[in-house]
Amino acid sequence: MKRKAFITASCLAVSGLIVATAWAQQRPDPEALKAKEFFGTAGIPEDRWTEGETFVPHVAPAPHFNATLLYYPGTEELQSDEVRVTFMGSTYYPNQSQSGMSILVELGNGDRFVFDLGIGSLRNYNSFSIPFNSINHVFFSHLHMDHMSDLPYFLMFRPIQGGWTPLHIYGPSGAEKQYGIGHMVEHMMKMTAWHRDSFNAWPIGEGYDPVVHEFDYMDEGGVVYDRNGVKIIHWPTSHTKDGATSYRLDWKGRSLCYTGDNRPNSLTIKHCQGVDMLISEVQNAAVSLSSQALGMPPAMAAYTIDTSHTPGYGLGYICKKAQPKVCVATHYSYDDIFNNETVAQVRHHWKGAFAFGAPDLVTFNVHGDGKVWWREGVAAESSQTPRPAFDAPLITFPAPRHQVYDVINETIEANEIPPEKWYPEGHKPELVREWPLTKDIQIPNPFARPSE
Ligand SMILES: [Zn+2]
Ligand SMILES: [Zn+2]
Repeated sequence: MKRKAFITASCLAVSGLIVATAWAQQRPDPEALKAKEFFGTAGIPEDRWTEGETFVPHVAPAPHFNATLLYYPGTEELQSDEVRVTFMGSTYYPNQSQSGMSILVELGNGDRFVFDLGIGSLRNYNSFSIPFNSINHVFFSHLHMDHMSDLPYFLMFRPIQGGWTPLHIYGPSGAEKQYGIGHMVEHMMKMTAWHRDSFNAWPIGEGYDPVVHEFDYMDEGGVVYDRNGVKIIHWPTSHTKDGATSYRLDWKGRSLCYTGDNRPNSLTIKHCQGVDMLISEVQNAAVSLSSQALGMPPAMAAYTIDTSHTPGYGLGYICKKAQPKVCVATHYSYDDIFNNETVAQVRHHWKGAFAFGAPDLVTFNVHGDGKVWWREGVAAESSQTPRPAFDAPLITFPAPRHQVYDVINETIEANEIPPEKWYPEGHKPELVREWPLTKDIQIPNPFARPSE
């Protein structure tokens, strides 16, 4: 009984407290309000923070990011008007952390564009689980191998990841036909004759029928792509030989320029006014230091840079004149010893936001009301072939053009050891020695995830 009374009293006390709290909530204590406000905003001026020299107000992470300093691929859905730019390659001499130039541009409408496909960059596409069949448009700035040598592999293996439609390849003509991108692709197809005929025993569809969009390298400001609200223009640029080009992409008020390799160029200033990202090559121009270490005559490096590339001072000048939201330096050997020097050179002219498009996997987002942010991309040491990207509920597997053993000599085939000899008793599966269909087959999409 006593116990019951105690409980009743406690209940009354608790309800009294609740009533008192509710009353207090109705009549807030001005001091408490002030404290609460301070807790939520301490250190942040009314508009936003202002720390730093280059973190101007438009440099900001988006609220939907999972992390501010790192980008974990596959964990963030792009907003409908957002752009993500990932450096899948960022240099000219590949090393452990840098591949040949390649930039992946992803738009919130699902479109993907690739600019250049330099040596080694494809391993980063795989690391980021970007299925090859989600890339249908590749633009080349010029035909140096540090910008295009992964193309043959990409074209040959794209159908294996479901790339059964033609790949669209864009690039400049040259001063002579033999220097244009059309000539290069035509002869790349010849180079890959053996590969194609062997893989034609698998579903390829039109995967080995690239469509080349060769444009006049001298044309300035011409539109090379205009679809789905995305417009890409180009202009000629000076780099080792006629037939190098720079690009600008526009979509939903977002914009970015990619110069490719070149000398600082007035047309870049003209065509890249106020873009969100001005991506340019940059070279560390410490020629005397490199020549001491490498024994290379300084004239070699100086001649290369002074005829064909952009030192930090040049990039700073371009950015000062074009006033992008962020000035991005890539095609750059990202070495600690030179980075500060390069930044100092860029800073001589350019005081706004600056970032390296290097090493590989650095990722930029253009988002919100005109904000830009960049992070280090995270990739696992190992990776596996990504799941092909197919949206439709039904997909059509193209029929192979021939069977494997149609193109293997019978006597060579006869040398194969019969599988019965090496499969343990009872372990021999039913072997698939022939593709079971001679026509295309439409089936429910096996690549769709269960939730889709
Ligand atoms: Zn290059
Ligand atoms: Zn080049």
